[in-house]
Amino acid sequence: MGVTDERLILVPSTSKQNHRKAIFLDRDGVINRKLPEDYYVRNSSEFDLLPNVLDALAIFRDLGFAIVVVTNQRGIGRGIMTEKDLSQVHDFMKSLLRDAGLELAGLYYCPHDKIDDCDCRKPAPGMILSAAKDLNIDLSSSFMVGDSVADIEAGKNAGVRSVRICQTLADYDSYEVFPSLIDFARFLQNEVSCSSKKLI
Ligand SMILES: [Mg+2]
Ligand SMILES: [Zn+2]
Repeated sequence: MGVTDERLILVPSTSKQNHRKAIFLDRDGVINRKLPEDYYVRNSSEFDLLPNVLDALAIFRDLGFAIVVVTNQRGIGRGIMTEKDLSQVHDFMKSLLRDAGLELAGLYYCPHDKIDDCDCRKPAPGMILSAAKDLNIDLSSSFMVGDSVADIEAGKNAGVRSVRICQTLADYDSYEVFPSLIDFARFLQNEVSCSSKKLI
């Protein structure tokens, strides 16, 4: 897991100084504990941060990445929860982050159901592309991190490198696989420190 792979070596961007690099994060299964299929996090008591997530976000921040959450929430489209429920959950999540000195650059969600055929529900790239436009993000120096195939596909469709959080080896087609967000963060930290040493 997280073995050094030449595809992951970061190339410092000099020509796109006006653009920020970002880590696009799926929410359920990456930031907070995913509930069983067909269950949705509808209130703060159901929102459990996964271990070491705050440390991982701090590493991304310190490496200069904007942190952007992109999450499918079709519980809304299915009438199982409301946008107000979601916004309260997100306020709670942001308060946990704020207490740790962390801030999201953006938070995008798709409220639609699969049958709505929207352009924001992952694997569609809509949320990533909107964020890139809104926040002036350089997609070629950014990553999409998620635990599902739809996340990986969304990243590919948007033209960012995809990383999958996955504890079991499966038939995946992602850029790289790590068992948890902190493992990816530490890997990235190591890559950056190695490439900056090379620059000296
Ligand atoms: Mg997920
Ligand atoms: Zn949508």
